Amino acid sequence: MLWSWRHVRRSTGCLIALLNRCDEKGLRLNKDKLQINRKSITYRGRSLTADGVRPDKRKISAIGDTPAPIDRPALRRLLGMATYLARYLPNFSEVTGKLRELLAEDVEFQFDDLIHGNVLRQLKQLLVNAPVLRYLDIKKPVHIQADSSSYGIGAAIFQDGQPVEYASRSLTRVERDSYAQIEREMAAVVFACNRFHSYIFRKQDVTITTGHKPLIAIHKKSLTSAPRRLQRMLLQLQRYAFTLQYVPGSQLIVADTLSRACLPDKDDDAGHDELLAAIADDEQMESLRMVALPATIDMIKSAAAANNQYQLLLRQIHVGWHDAAVISPAVKDYVTFADELTTVGGLVFKGDRVVIPQDARAEASRRIHSSHIGVNGCIRRARESVLYPGMTADIKLMVFRCAICAEHQAMSHKEPYTAPSRPWERVKVDNFTPRNQDYLVTTRYLSGYFEVDRLCCHPQPRLDASLLITMSVAQQC
Ligand SMILES: [Zn+2]
Repeated sequence: MLWSWRHVRRSTGCLIALLNRCDEKGLRLNKDKLQINRKSITYRGRSLTADGVRPDKRKISAIGDTPAPIDRPALRRLLGMATYLARYLPNFSEVTGKLRELLAEDVEFQFDDLIHGNVLRQLKQLLVNAPVLRYLDIKKPVHIQADSSSYGIGAAIFQDGQPVEYASRSLTRVERDSYAQIEREMAAVVFACNRFHSYIFRKQDVTITTGHKPLIAIHKKSLTSAPRRLQRMLLQLQRYAFTLQYVPGSQLIVADTLSRACLPDKDDDAGHDELLAAIADDEQMESLRMVALPATIDMIKSAAAANNQYQLLLRQIHVGWHDAAVISPAVKDYVTFADELTTVGGLVFKGDRVVIPQDARAEASRRIHSSHIGVNGCIRRARESVLYPGMTADIKLMVFRCAICAEHQAMSHKEPYTAPSRPWERVKVDNFTPRNQDYLVTTRYLSGYFEVDRLCCHPQPRLDASLLITMSVAQQC
């Protein structure tokens, strides 16, 4: 709640009237957040001052605190961004003339703080003040650019092509070292949404552009198909309604420049995002521990660390798959589902399935086949927990050579299966007893539909097959 008054003499009376009104309506106010007699205040992204409305310092710090370029590529990026905004910059060519001279290849790059530094400061002032930076019109659509470099995240929000606010931060150590490229790019989108929350929350006409094409696909897929870290990020994005669009990286000029000349990490969002990522990593490893013993996990990790192809795969996920020219032939088998791969603790995962390195595949197949549940059972079990190219063929071959599986299959063939013609023609019944309470489960053969009935009389006598059938019939009648 923001309350202002023109005459100081009347302010106390107004404040008391306001507090009384809140009390009357049952509104509770937090006294720690109460600020009285302020000459300036930050409200919804703007700094309201006695002299008028000014851009919030945070809105412009991504530009204002940008370090001076240390080489030609850095200067080229900075000027590229300024050129992108040139139509809103008065005297653009004159202001940037001295900086452009530094781009000439036949001149040594020497950034003189007195000459070039002054020009840069002047350029930054132009970039962070109107008419370049505009106020948001809530009735008009907005467009956000979000981009990630190998060490930073950059974002900018625009309306009618004109910037409203800039934002950037450094990647945290975990993001830099452990995240797949797709996760860093998604982190940029999450960062942009969180930072520009007040502009886009409950707004329908929001477009976010990314330079990373696989992000579009994973954003459209179901949450469960995404790796755990991405799931957490996608969950954070669910409160916003936006269209995610791909544009080539060369068109994300402002966000790209901000991500490469990002501010040192001093953003609360980063710590929060890192915490969520750590939780996601724990969940990912926990899902593995549910299906594998610690010794098995250690065996897979050792085999992964010693296998060159596996290490190439880890590196490829880290640098991304967008450039076909840099994809190693050794990892081409993974390209079709590359956007679903992530790395946690030196292992590669697709959803809850761990990618098994070459030297551990025989042992993994042996364990999957250990209960001799036939080819379909083994493949189904494998697909719940593990993954490697050629896995299905390996399992088929193993079961084909197995005498025990062959014997089971022969026995099951003696009674050919005929599908029931109506829903309750054939059912399966069984009981289970959690916490001393008996339940009866009845499943239809035709559809797999099941019903669970709580059995009232307790304690039950021993539930043999005939009693179960009688009870099932009684429950269905
Ligand atoms: Zn077998």
